[in-house]
Amino acid sequence: MTTAVSLKAITRRFGEVLALDAIDLDIAEGEFFAMLGPSGSGKTTCLRVIAGFEQPSSGELSIFGQRAEGVPPYKRNVNTVFQDYALFPHLNVIDNVAYSLMLRKVPVAERYSQAEAVLDMVKLAGYGMRRPGQLSGGQRQRVALARALVNQPKVLLLDEPLGALDLKLREQMQEELKSLQKRLGITFIFVTHDQGEAMSMADRIAVFNLGKIMQVGTPEEIYLKPASRFVADFVGSSNVLPPDFVARTTGKASWASLRPEAITVTAGAGQPDLTGTVVARNYLGATTRITVDLGGQRLHAVLPSGAGVPLEGSVVTVDFDPSALHRMDDTP
Ligand code: ATP
Repeated sequence: MTTAVSLKAITRRFGEVLALDAIDLDIAEGEFFAMLGPSGSGKTTCLRVIAGFEQPSSGELSIFGQRAEGVPPYKRNVNTVFQDYALFPHLNVIDNVAYSLMLRKVPVAERYSQAEAVLDMVKLAGYGMRRPGQLSGGQRQRVALARALVNQPKVLLLDEPLGALDLKLREQMQEELKSLQKRLGITFIFVTHDQGEAMSMADRIAVFNLGKIMQVGTPEEIYLKPASRFVADFVGSSNVLPPDFVARTTGKASWASLRPEAITVTAGAGQPDLTGTVVARNYLGATTRITVDLGGQRLHAVLPSGAGVPLEGSVVTVDFDPSALHRMDDTP
C-alpha cells in the first residue's frame, strides 16, 4: 500500500499556542480520511500544513515519498476545497472551473472540454454559463469541488466542505462525495467537527484534541473501542462510566464506555446498583432515548420506540452484557 501523506513529529506553534504537538500520521493512497475534533484542536492547521499554506515549526512532511516542507502549494500534488468555496463571483461556472488550466496555459478548447467533463462528474452539466450568485449552496459546493478536481490532484484536501449546507443537502452531498471518491480513487482528506459526517464518509478517522491526535482508526474502532474518555465523549453519545461504578457492577475497577443501545431496561426494582428512575425520555422516531438516574450515576439507553419504553418518573432496572463494556485506561 502506497503512503500518500506522511507526517512525522509535525509541530506548529503560533507564539504561545501549540496548534500541532508532534503529530505522527500516515494516510494511504486512495483513503477517505477524516480529521475530527472540537474547535481549536488543530485539524485545520494540520490540513493547511499538508496543503502548504502553513509551514511546520518542526517535523517531517512527505507527499508520495517526497519531502514537502518549503514546497509551495501549487507544486504539491494536492488541491484544497475551502469551506467558503472561494469562487470568483464575476466569472461564470465554466471559467471558475477552467481558471487554473488557463494559468497553466492549457489551450482554450482543451481547457473547456476538461472543465465540462468535470462539471458533468459533479452533476452540473449545463450550468457552465451561470455565475456563482445564480446557484444554490449545494451547487456552489459542487463548483468548488470541480475546480479542485480539474487539476487531477492525487490528494484532495477538504476543509469542512459541507459546513455551509443545510442538513438534508449535507446528507445528500455526503453520499455523493463518497461515491465520487470511490470512483476516482483520489485520496480525500477532510476536516470536520461533525462526528456523524466523519463516521458516515471516512475509511479512517483521526480524532484531534489540543493539538494532538488522540486516536486513529476506522469508524467502528473509534465508536466501539474509544481509546480514552475524550474520544468516547466526543465521538458518540456513549456512557462514560467511572471506576467505582464499574467496580460495583462488574467487580473490576476501570473507566469504561458503554453504548446506549447495549443497555436493556425492565420495569420495576432489581439489583440495587442497577435500579434507578427514568429522568428523561426523548422520542427520536424509530428509537427513544431515556436517561436513568442510578443514585447519582446517569445512564443513557436507546430503546426501540413503542409501548415498552418506560415513562418518565418510573422505577426501572438496567442491564447490559459485561462484554459490551469497553474498558479504557486512565487517559482523560
Ligand atoms: P476549527 O474547527 O474552529 O476551525 P481547528 O481544530 O481547525 O478549529 P485550528 O484552526 O487548527 O483548529 O487552530 C488550532 C489552534 O491554533 C487554535 O488555538 C487557534 O487559535 C490557533 N491558530 C490557528 N491559526 C493561527 C494563526 N494564524 N495565528 C495564531 N494562532 C492560530
